[in-house]
This record gives sequence, structure tokens and C-alpha cells, in this order.
Amino acid sequence: SSYHKVLEENRILYNQVLDLKGAIRVYCRVRPFSPGQSNEQSTVDYIGENGNIMIVNPLKQGKDARRVFSFNKVFATSATQEQIYADTKPLVRSVLDGYNACIFAYGQTGSGKTYTMSGPDLKTEETWGVNYRALRDLFHISKERATAIKYEVGVQMIEIYNEQYVHSLTRYTLDIRNNSQLNGLNVPDACLVPVNCTQDVLDLMEIGQRNRAVGATALNVRSSRSHSVLTVHVRGKEIESNSVLKGCLHLVDLAGSERVDKSEAVGERLKEAQHINKSLSALGDVISALAQKSPHIPYRNSKLTQVLQDSLGGHAKTLMFVHINPEINSLGETISTLKFAERVASIELGAAQSNK
Ligand code: ADP
Repeated sequence: SSYHKVLEENRILYNQVLDLKGAIRVYCRVRPFSPGQSNEQSTVDYIGENGNIMIVNPLKQGKDARRVFSFNKVFATSATQEQIYADTKPLVRSVLDGYNACIFAYGQTGSGKTYTMSGPDLKTEETWGVNYRALRDLFHISKERATAIKYEVGVQMIEIYNEQYVHSLTRYTLDIRNNSQLNGLNVPDACLVPVNCTQDVLDLMEIGQRNRAVGATALNVRSSRSHSVLTVHVRGKEIESNSVLKGCLHLVDLAGSERVDKSEAVGERLKEAQHINKSLSALGDVISALAQKSPHIPYRNSKLTQVLQDSLGGHAKTLMFVHINPEINSLGETISTLKFAERVASIELGAAQSNK
């Protein structure tokens, strides 16, 4: 029967998910130079098949000039949006089986985080980023399973700026009657919007963008200094057994990770930088505590970790895309980005070993 077919599919998916060994996978993506910079020297010396990337400092000589970092995978500048998404698919699909998952984009401003998560142009599906591909997949599979499981899907969009929630979708801007049985995040005023297809989500994104633009003088500046969290909630009811499963997927475009020169930053800029540093290190601390199986996980130290609490640790699956810009001017940030990422990736190995 179709029900058994779904169970069998689930078993296969489940095994694929278990294959995502360790708590956190880390993928590194190198963005291409802009057209005007094409003959600039790159700080990326080589990318190995096995997830190694060598960074070179062209101004130095000898052994000190090179450094190798290792991740689960490294994507070169030629990687397409489709290739970027391909390995993420099983994780996204596991959400329909009742898992929670988190996908992060990390890196300095301009390194390609938004390109990976959203893509440059929503009108062309080929360039869609992880967000839309994930939703397209979720709707596709839920339709395939419709005779066995009835799914409801809802989304929430939350922005965190200076440790405060900024809502681009609120009950006041959307005329929605939410009769669904989905449970949203416990964030005051965050609106959970039921959706039936990818187009619904694209429409919401547009409304969200418009709302964000209102009153924000320097929108581009703010968006690089805020964390944006798109959360997809799924509730499935098995038709034969009436049992219910719930899963959620967080798609997180983090604030730019660049350090601010303490002597130069003042006023608003300094405050923003301090909030970003605080929340990114809170994220690192939560991940470390999880890996050490610490009895106390410090979720409450930042809004970001509070929002993601149910989806970090436990049976949740986490994936981080770290982004680097290969231009020489970014060398310092590239090294510190890769060091942060290596810390996250080494935690994965630790967790995998202790599970043996
Ligand atoms: P971030 O979100 O990290 O600040 P963006 O995603 O806005 O960075 O990328 C900065 C610029 O680089 C944009 O113009 C974007 O289109 C371009 N870009 C980033 N990654 C790629 C890529 N893989 N291929 C082509 N262009 C890219």
C-alpha cells in the first residue's frame, strides 16, 4: 500500500540522515571575483577533493605563507546553486520525517551568504538558493506522500538586530486567519503563516522585503548586521494511524562576521559589532557545550541561540556553509572565518567519536 511505500521511503531517508555523521557538517564555499576583479590574485591556493582548502598569503614567503583547513566539503568558485543544494537535500527531507534541522550561512559581509541562502534573482529558478530549493523539495515530497500523510506547512520570518527582534511579517501587516495546528516559535509577535506552495513563500518574501524597507534608511547596511531566520514548520498526520509527527527547519543568514577595529568603531557601529560578536560567540559556546555533552547548554545567552534552541543538539541536524572571499584585502577575515569554522567542524569529529 502507499502507506508501506512511505514507511520504506522513510527508512531509506532515515539511513541517509544517519549517514550525516556527527552533530555538525561544515561546507566551505569560495565566491568568485566580481567581473572587474578577474585578474586579481586569489588567496585560495588549491581545493582538495577531500574537503581541504589551502590559503596562501601572497605577501609572505616559505612555510608561513600557506595554511590548510579541512571541512566536510569545499566548493570552488565554479559550484552551481544546484550543486550546493545537492548534499543538503537529505537533511531537508528529514524534516518531513519529524526531525529538526538548522542550516547556517556564515562569513564576512560580501562573501556570498545571501547568494547561497536566497540567490541573486528570485525570478530565475536556476539561481535559487538553498531556501527556495528546500521549500520546493518539501512541498514536492509532501505531495508525493499525500495519500499516506497529510502535511501542513507554515513559515516564520524573524530578524535579529542588536539583540532585538525585528518583524517583517506581523499579524498587523498580513490579514491571515491561522486555523492550522502548527506550533510556531515562542517569539512574541512572530507570525506563523500557513503556506501551500513555493509561490506562497515567494509572495511572503516580497511582502517581508517591502515591510523591511519601510523606515530603514540604510537597509543594506542593516541587513548585513542582522541575523535573518526563516523557519519552516511541518506537521504531518499519518492517515492510517492518526499519529502525528512534527519537524522544523531553520534557514539562517547570519550577520557579517567581520571584526570591527575597536579604535575606529564608535556609536551605533560599535554597538552593532558588539551585539554581533556576542551572538556569534554565544552560538559557538552552545555548539561547544553540546559537543562536550555539558549538563548546561547556554542557550539563553543570545536571542539567536534562544530562537534555535529546539533545533541545536539532541536529534537535530546542523549544517553550516562558511563563505570566503578570495581577494587579498579579505585575507585576515578569511583566516578568522576558517578558524571559526574549523572550531565548529572539529566539534563534529569529537561528537562522532564519542558516539562510537
Ligand atoms: P553577503 O550576504 O555575505 O553579504 P552576498 O551574497 O550579498 O554577500 O554577495 C555579495 C556579492 O557577491 C553579490 O553581488 C553577489 O551576487 C555576489 N556573489 C556572491 N557569491 C557569488 C557566487 N557564488 N557567484 C556569483 N556571484 C556571487
